[in-house]
Amino acid sequence: MALYCSSLGSQVPRAGRALLAGACSRGLSASSSIEASPLLRSGGFIGGRWVTVAATFPVLDPASGTELHRVSDCGLPESREAVTAAYNAFQSWREVSAKDRSVLLRKWYELMIQNKEELAKIITAENGKPLKEALGEVAYSAAFLEWFSEEARRVYGDIIPVPMKDRRALALKQPLGVVTIITPWNFPSAMITRKVGAALAAGCTVIVKPAEDTPLSALALAELATQAGIPAGVFNVVPCSRQNAASVGEALCTDPLVAKISFTGSTTTGKILLKHAADGVKRVSMELGGHAPFVVFDTANVDQAVAGAIASKYRNSGQTCVCSNRFLVQKGIHDTFVKKFAEAIKKELHVGNGFEASTTQGPLINEKAVEKVEKHVSDAVNQGACIVTGGKRHSLGKNFFEPTLLSNVTTSMLCTQEETFGPLAPVIKFDTEEEALAISNSANVGLAGYFYSQDPAQIWRVAERMEVGMVGVNEGLLSSVECPFGGVKQSGIGREGSKYGIDEYLEIKYVCFGGL
Ligand code: NAP
Repeated sequence: MALYCSSLGSQVPRAGRALLAGACSRGLSASSSIEASPLLRSGGFIGGRWVTVAATFPVLDPASGTELHRVSDCGLPESREAVTAAYNAFQSWREVSAKDRSVLLRKWYELMIQNKEELAKIITAENGKPLKEALGEVAYSAAFLEWFSEEARRVYGDIIPVPMKDRRALALKQPLGVVTIITPWNFPSAMITRKVGAALAAGCTVIVKPAEDTPLSALALAELATQAGIPAGVFNVVPCSRQNAASVGEALCTDPLVAKISFTGSTTTGKILLKHAADGVKRVSMELGGHAPFVVFDTANVDQAVAGAIASKYRNSGQTCVCSNRFLVQKGIHDTFVKKFAEAIKKELHVGNGFEASTTQGPLINEKAVEKVEKHVSDAVNQGACIVTGGKRHSLGKNFFEPTLLSNVTTSMLCTQEETFGPLAPVIKFDTEEEALAISNSANVGLAGYFYSQDPAQIWRVAERMEVGMVGVNEGLLSSVECPFGGVKQSGIGREGSKYGIDEYLEIKYVCFGGL
């Protein structure tokens, strides 16, 4: 293959050359290649060693479909090895002082910040999100290590007053043990550190199984963990193909040496893992699917609502669990909101390769994701919805889809009944606050919800009555390491980040001193 775009050409393997060639033909800089990245790894990371196996699986560029890299397809032997390594490491990691654990987590955080460009390029390459968003994810991801390095030193127990004069009682907080962590592709870095930061701060050790689509960010984190001095076996990564996900997942979740399962992903997979947990009576954290309502009341500031709608709907091309999934707009403000929302979509959103500076909307993760958006659009249109803008695959082809706005949407349409996980904004018109709350709360999930209103009494009423774990009031972006992240109903169990996040990895032990 003739390469004229980079002096790196002769040094990089074939898959990387394909990427470079593709990137150059699209007018991108050679910096979009990750083959030369010092953080690129191919093996699993077990007991402080890089472990390769004969079978490999490809990591694809969602923008072009070309192969970025190949990664070891770990199976049952590697899963068992990782559990044993994590269990052995737990015996010493639990004895490391909170201050020393804190120092190591802080060092890991600093290395992430020093390597933020490399980490962001890996995220954009394997996930497709715009480089600016990827840099945002690295900052968010690193911030969990920073936050939990601080929380590590603030795990306090209690002295409990008891009625017996010859006794004293106390409650100790202790680490749970080995934690299996299974994560999705939509935040390939942050969904890992949000759990791992808390687990390591508490004194637990972990095994991470990243998503098939995005294992490279997890492996890059392992490389930086080593550089930070995190001891062997404390942080393990077992990458595998989708074909092996169920068996590797089962092995990692049911092993008696594993104390807890922490999962982020779909509600369907969450239920499978909950069954694994039930058999072993293990602790769980479940961050599952959402179906966020975004309600605009007549009292809203319409420009603020439009800005919030763009931010909450189209980030990561609509592929975040807290993305607004259905827009409920009161009849008095409806037409103005829809008109301004459509104008903002056309003006502010630019579909393209995530490495292009003007791109705000990268590709969806894979063909299956595009098919789901297509299905939701056609089902809605067949039932009478109107396409205000977008509505079809983008002319760039592959996994690109046009940012789409539908009006005249009803609750009988699929897009208002399940998570789309793509760039589709369906608008339902409503009459009363009661009606908006009834529609919002009709879902069997409840992760995030948003509403826009300038009426203080209405703000309190709706914030309290919306059945979700997180509410954005006149705000479309709500994630922050300092605040509790999690859902109600089938959106999950537990909270991540914040001062509550570390409790998910701690056990309370009551100690009674008698005969005093
Ligand atoms: P998914 O299909 O459930 O996959 C998530 C992870 O589970 C991947 O690593 C996947 O591996 C693995 N997996 C799949 N089947 C498994 C099994 N039987 N046993 C063990 N592991 C298994 O979810 P997704 O489609 O990738 O992610 C999107 C979903 O995640 C959405 O519903 C979104 O709302 C949710 N999400 C929730 C949060 C939150 O904080 N609540 C955050 C982000 C995303 P493979 O990749 O190899 O299939």
